[in-house]
Amino acid sequence: MIDASAYVRISEKLSSQDVILVAVSKTKPATDIQALYDLGQRDFGENYVQELVEKHKVLPSDIRWHFIGHLQRNKVRMIAPFVHLIHGVDSPRLLETINKEGERAGRRIDCLLQIHIASEETKFGWDASEILSFFRSPDALQSFPHLRIRGLMGMASFSNDLDRVREEFRGLHSLFQELGSGSFAGIDTFNVLSMGMSADHPIAIEEGSNMVRIGSLLFGAR
Ligand SMILES: *Cc1c(COP(=O)(O)O)cnc(C)c1O
Repeated sequence: MIDASAYVRISEKLSSQDVILVAVSKTKPATDIQALYDLGQRDFGENYVQELVEKHKVLPSDIRWHFIGHLQRNKVRMIAPFVHLIHGVDSPRLLETINKEGERAGRRIDCLLQIHIASEETKFGWDASEILSFFRSPDALQSFPHLRIRGLMGMASFSNDLDRVREEFRGLHSLFQELGSGSFAGIDTFNVLSMGMSADHPIAIEEGSNMVRIGSLLFGAR
């Protein structure tokens, strides 16, 4: 069951702030997605490849599907023809695979690089230093003609320490600005900063997020 009034309130607030809402529908039935679609929502986020493929088949074709989970290289082919944005790209090898599958699908696939900002060990992603050295190599960007690096994504610590959460988001925003004015200078498609979920998106937006991924506030607890 979706919370329609929460959706209306949240989506109006976010659009007044120029923040894109990705409705995270993992584990939720297609009927719930259709209900939000009928209220006007078009961006949906999924974490599991098989589930995304099934939902893509039965739901309206103008939905923009975001893949926000951990993507295994052997599954890229299944989503390459239609995925709108892949948020969790966490290695150069995955970039290579996406580039190859983009070529095979005859399109350029938009990606975000996932940066490790949380103190927990379990979260995937690049360290700031890794990403800076990756982009210092002069042909890092030219070597992927079938994808586009649109920006960065990160997940803060699961913590009640809101100062820490804010610090993590702030660090990601400054890395985003640093890359945007360095390696990506003049590339105006490097403009997406995906950070913030149900619990922490107000802080993320204060710290510069322009895309939030919200599940439980819209669809209820999982
Ligand atoms: C599940 C998930 C979300 C949404 O989480 P909520 O707390 O339900 O808003 C956002 N981002 C990622 C990467 C997720 O896996």
